[in-house]
Amino acid sequence: MILNSFQLAGRTAIVTGCNTGLGQGMALALAQAGADIVGVNQSAPTETMAQVQALGRKFLDVRKNLSETAALPAIVQEALTLTGRIDILVNNAGIIRREDAINFTESDWDDVVNLNLKNVFFLAQAAARQFIAQGTGGKIVNIASMLSFQGGVRVPAYTASKSGVMGITRALANEWAKHGINVNAIAPGYMATANTAALQADPVRNAAIMDRIPAGRWGTPADLAGPVVFLASPASDYVNGYTVAVDGGWLAR
Ligand code: NAD
Repeated sequence: MILNSFQLAGRTAIVTGCNTGLGQGMALALAQAGADIVGVNQSAPTETMAQVQALGRKFLDVRKNLSETAALPAIVQEALTLTGRIDILVNNAGIIRREDAINFTESDWDDVVNLNLKNVFFLAQAAARQFIAQGTGGKIVNIASMLSFQGGVRVPAYTASKSGVMGITRALANEWAKHGINVNAIAPGYMATANTAALQADPVRNAAIMDRIPAGRWGTPADLAGPVVFLASPASDYVNGYTVAVDGGWLAR
């Protein structure tokens, strides 16, 4: 039956940056669909762990700074201690720095691009090596952005990183489909999280954003639940290299 192909029972998912925001919403959605969760965070994912365990699923708390490329292969090794396998990687952790392009610093550029793009690639590489060693295939879901499609204002490094995420999603899908690995991305629209707190608090920008969203509201972490379970499950086995916008219609305007 079709709904069985969305089931994730017996699968293990790594979700980066799941102590809050969109990562928390996606970790809970995957757990509701049956997956055990490896959460990779810098700070304690206390609430997420309790909610996943309340669903009867296992949760492994892996503490890492995802800005450190050399630490990434060890994440996959540590993740294997939960169930002995990895089936899904959700590359969610990300940061944004706002500054006029004319004043943007090299250190802000490096911080954003290293975490949001370079290390998304290298964690995907580490996961794919494990999928290939297991011989099971796997699912990689990268978190892109509206700024994978648009230029944005005062966020040049973020735009570069998220445009790059859409590019590597296609590139990796091309190389790894033959191993049964699906690489896709979700491009959230304007979502109410800590990442966008400054925009939500700015009455002028907030009004302009709301006016342009056909759905007439900011998105929430729960809005990513259906798309992430789809892309993490056998229901999407023939979807490769695509970036799905979950944006209340923003890009359709
Ligand atoms: P958030 O700030 O609430 O969460 C970001 C997560 O990344 C947190 O868990 C944080 O701890 C983690 N993180 C940051 N730096 C890290 C590091 N060095 N090592 C480990 N973890 C680190 O933001 P969010 O809105 O939930 O964003 C999640 C993802 O969605 C990001 O990639 C973001 O760019 C993307 N996104 C968000 C929106 C939005 O409107 N909120 C829109 C499009 C894309």
